[in-house]
Amino acid sequence: MSFENGRWHGKRYYFGLHYDLHASDNDTELGTRCGLDELVPALKLLRPDFVQTDCKGHPGMTSWPTTVPDGTTSPGVVKDALRQWREATRQLKMPLHCHYSGIWDRAASQKHPEWAVVPAPGSDPAKPSEKMCPRGPYLDKLLILQMKELIDRYEVDGFWVDGELWAAEPCYCPLCLAAFRERSGLAEAPTSMDDPHWPEWQQFTLDSFKEYVSRYVTAVHEHRPEVLVCSNWLQTFRNPGCPDDVATDWISGDNSWVWGLDGSRCEARWLCNRGKPWDIMLWAFSCSHGMGQPNSPWTMKPVDMLAQEAAMLMATGGNVQIYESPGVRTGQLVPWRLKRMREVGKFISKRRRLCQGTLGLPQVAVLHSEAHYYSRPTGKNLMHGYDANPVRGAVFALSECHYGVDIMDEWALLQTLDAFPVVVVPEQLRLSDEMVEALKRYVRGGGLLFLTGAGMAERFGMSFLGLDGLSVEDKATYHLPVNKGEASVPLHSEPWGLLQVGKKGRGIGRLGTTPLCDERLLATPAAVTTRVGYGRVMFVAADIFRDFEHNRYPLTRQFVQELMRRLYPDPVVSIEAPLAVDVALRFKNDALQFHFINRSSGIPNQPNNGMVDEIPAVGPLKLTVRMGWRPESVAWHFEDDSEMLWEWTPEPKKDHGHQHSCDCGCEEEHDDDCDCGCHEEGEDGTVTVEIDSVRIHGVVVIK
Ligand SMILES: [Zn+2]
Repeated sequence: MSFENGRWHGKRYYFGLHYDLHASDNDTELGTRCGLDELVPALKLLRPDFVQTDCKGHPGMTSWPTTVPDGTTSPGVVKDALRQWREATRQLKMPLHCHYSGIWDRAASQKHPEWAVVPAPGSDPAKPSEKMCPRGPYLDKLLILQMKELIDRYEVDGFWVDGELWAAEPCYCPLCLAAFRERSGLAEAPTSMDDPHWPEWQQFTLDSFKEYVSRYVTAVHEHRPEVLVCSNWLQTFRNPGCPDDVATDWISGDNSWVWGLDGSRCEARWLCNRGKPWDIMLWAFSCSHGMGQPNSPWTMKPVDMLAQEAAMLMATGGNVQIYESPGVRTGQLVPWRLKRMREVGKFISKRRRLCQGTLGLPQVAVLHSEAHYYSRPTGKNLMHGYDANPVRGAVFALSECHYGVDIMDEWALLQTLDAFPVVVVPEQLRLSDEMVEALKRYVRGGGLLFLTGAGMAERFGMSFLGLDGLSVEDKATYHLPVNKGEASVPLHSEPWGLLQVGKKGRGIGRLGTTPLCDERLLATPAAVTTRVGYGRVMFVAADIFRDFEHNRYPLTRQFVQELMRRLYPDPVVSIEAPLAVDVALRFKNDALQFHFINRSSGIPNQPNNGMVDEIPAVGPLKLTVRMGWRPESVAWHFEDDSEMLWEWTPEPKKDHGHQHSCDCGCEEEHDDDCDCGCHEEGEDGTVTVEIDSVRIHGVVVIK
């Protein structure tokens, strides 16, 4: 997917530094140690390509002397840090963005309580919200005026707006209630998640938030068209749906400070399909427990840990920023920490030429349906109040079977469906009717579809799945057969569907009621597969991917792999590798790229330790690719300590067993553009690549 809907500064801006300190009224020494004599050498030490610096954090106080009447400058501003960062970045020719807290502004809520979100009736009046009403005066009286001030006074190049999607709250002010009444036709706004109209209210809150973002994006672009804008986490994995409705320039989010790799595994496979430039910001520091616990203070992450997190993102074409907040309020950067980040920066920069601007080689698409996702909120938060666990579980299971996995919402998949050999729909029961029909057409035309969740039988119809019927139990635990009944694994699902296989369907294995593999089995199979048109469907009537996200049982993954091998027995690309290795299948400049990312931790298994360090190399890796041409070269990049061998095996010339009557003198009549390949030279064959090991990230490039 190309990036036609967004903008970026240019290719050479790849590795960024994000610096913020959320200025507050406790500060006393802001801006005192970031003059050119200190900042320029620090930035030269790190050598980022672009910089985002502190500007206004969630306390709502600026770290520059704002003249906007409703603005609040932190009393700790001694020198104008932003001016100094601007001068240093101009000298070093680096674009400068502002970190600006958007919808969350404590100072504004104290100065103008009437600007803040009005909580639901009955909420605790002692806890007024610090979040701004998206329809109130905050946008025009403060946010947009300050952005214009920053553009005019400092000529900043962009805004990374924080405290946004995840901080927005439902607002019960007269303006918001009137808008809700007008749009929904409902007289009252729901106040509880038990209200049947809660999803509409949640959707209204999301729409109101997006309209607020659109207004400041438009204001900035009208004021200075070349200034770029991003709203933190908007349009990421936690915000599926058409990304054209808010015209931000690029997509970004700050990854979790601990246990962040699984989140990045999803973002990497998702953001590359959004049609905008993107990055993920990695926290340079971490703590072993929750945020803000005094007995678990922040510490710098090991270089290996940051490199591993970065590799996951670069493998699918993302840019990378590193977030530094060293806990010194003067604006100083800490040299030893910069040196470590420089090591990560080198790791990132040397990958740019290969990794930037790649496109995906479609293999397995996992549907992350926006229709399903938004239809049943599980909490009030616009980012975390929805259930994406089955999608995550599918991505983890399939990635660990070494398929190339893309995550797509309906908006993306409906545009590219036929490019994917396999589509997996993990328990997305409330997908749209349009998507159901498109997937049925896809299968009839030759597609391979893997459906899970008992409710899919109703959505797709019994005969499409090869069933005569399905009896549903509200909740149950059964044992799935693995390796032809040699072992089994328990799966708890709410609900479970017991399959009654029809004439066209073929049952796979039998469900067990105990770990015994050969007795106390049910008559019903664990899965059913059936041919439909030129394609095939595989169906498991249980929440297997939700379970895998939760439990990660190895035998459950093996069961998934066995079903995938039946559904997709002859993939063009197949990879054998240790479990810890994720792959990304990409191409660029007419060359195929196969990325291998080692997710191992070198730290012994300790449940309270989220650090990754001293990553051990894992292997061997084996890649097999069926090709239509003999490659000119096969190269192994970035992992100099491991060896790569490759060989080419031409396919024997087929006796294709049918006659042709084109110009070449065969008997039958048909179009000249016969595409069976029998008239071409025998170029088909298989490349087999064997690699000893991968430590963090290596790429096989086949030309
Ligand atoms: Zn409001």
